[in-house]
Amino acid sequence: MSVTWVTVLGATGSIGVSTLDVISRHTQRYAVFALTGHSRMSVLKAQCLAHNPRYAVVANAAQALVLQTHLREARCLTEVLAGGDALEQVAAAESVDVVMAAIVGAAGLRPTLAAVRAGKRVLLANKEALVMSGALFMQAVQKHGAVLLPIDSEHNAIFQCLPLDYARGMASVGVRRILLTASGGPFRDMQAGDLSSVTPEQACAHPNWSMGQKISVDSASMMNKGLELIEASWLFNVRPSQIEVVIHPQSVVHSLVDYIDGSVIAQLGNPDMRTPIAHALAWPERVDSGVSPLDLLTVARLDFRPPDPVMFPCLRLAREAAEVGGTACAVLNAANEVAVEAFLGRRIGFTDIPVIIEHTLESLVPESVQDLDHILLTDRLAREHALNWLTNHR
Ligand code: NDP
Ligand code: MG
Repeated sequence: MSVTWVTVLGATGSIGVSTLDVISRHTQRYAVFALTGHSRMSVLKAQCLAHNPRYAVVANAAQALVLQTHLREARCLTEVLAGGDALEQVAAAESVDVVMAAIVGAAGLRPTLAAVRAGKRVLLANKEALVMSGALFMQAVQKHGAVLLPIDSEHNAIFQCLPLDYARGMASVGVRRILLTASGGPFRDMQAGDLSSVTPEQACAHPNWSMGQKISVDSASMMNKGLELIEASWLFNVRPSQIEVVIHPQSVVHSLVDYIDGSVIAQLGNPDMRTPIAHALAWPERVDSGVSPLDLLTVARLDFRPPDPVMFPCLRLAREAAEVGGTACAVLNAANEVAVEAFLGRRIGFTDIPVIIEHTLESLVPESVQDLDHILLTDRLAREHALNWLTNHR
């Protein structure tokens, strides 16, 4: 078997680390072409020493110089590059077969699109890229013959529950609706009134999953499920109204597909991102992921309930943006990124997050998307509006 060359964008993060864990179990099968990091330089250095990539990419020239010196001293041959163009370069390089897109937030859009435009197999963890630029992104996948495989556990589950020819359309393959499961996050059993005083530490203490800070806060506000609703509508070409969100506190059923004949197909497993990562890396084959087998007798029960719209207004805001379309989802995403950062920096309270997002959505009239520059301009404008709100409410 010839070796598959992998670039991991966002290698130093939670998904990046899990990806390298799976790769390290199959060194005959996968080799690392490039790893990228942004602030965690000691993690990136250790990863370079362990995986010997051809390239490592960091944010700036100063970081690159330090890392390159350390790697030379350790006799590691990895070449260190810096900046946004370098991210695109290692995502699109000819020798690369697979790109794991695991940079968090809007920063992941350009390199992920570069991988798509180079016709790679793209393992999509960075949901924000698709939320911002859904139509453009999916058109680029078609045009350049990229293979897009979802890493988000719910979307990976849906992918596994759909027939191979699902792109013919949901009606043609007999799908009635998609049931998107949500853990409900750390605040699922709180009262709405208690949410205003929760801390970033509480928001990041997810009951079932270990993840980066931004997605942890998104899970706590349920904006994560809103972004996932938008993500699912683009990935599987379904209307938002065909997607139902269901709270499932055990995070064992990762999502379900409901067919017109009454069959409901689900994918189950322990909550560990190495399962969807291994699935997408090896697809259509299967490889060991290191995840322990699911013991249904230990799980014992699976609960399901509807989300509380009063507790979690972010879910409503995302659904509305998905229905409106155009630039609305890029605005939603940018305002959310600003709000989450402000919450993590203790500049606002948790319940201010949906207020900022709603204010930003109301301030910017949705437009139909023209091109990537239009989306990036929208992202910038929305951030300015959200930041203005912050300044005016200090
Ligand atoms: P982390 O915060 O753990 O990691 C983010 C990665 O992106 C890090 O490698 C970080 O570098 C890098 N990064 C951050 N900012 C920039 C930037 N401006 N330019 C370039 N690189 C940058 O996040 P996660 O791994 O949790 O999530 C990554 C993506 O996957 C997100 O979009 C998330 O929504 C999605 N996802 C994550 C899941 C999970 O279980 N973690 C589940 C489903 C989806 P550094 O750390 O060196 O600063
Ligand atoms: Mg998810």
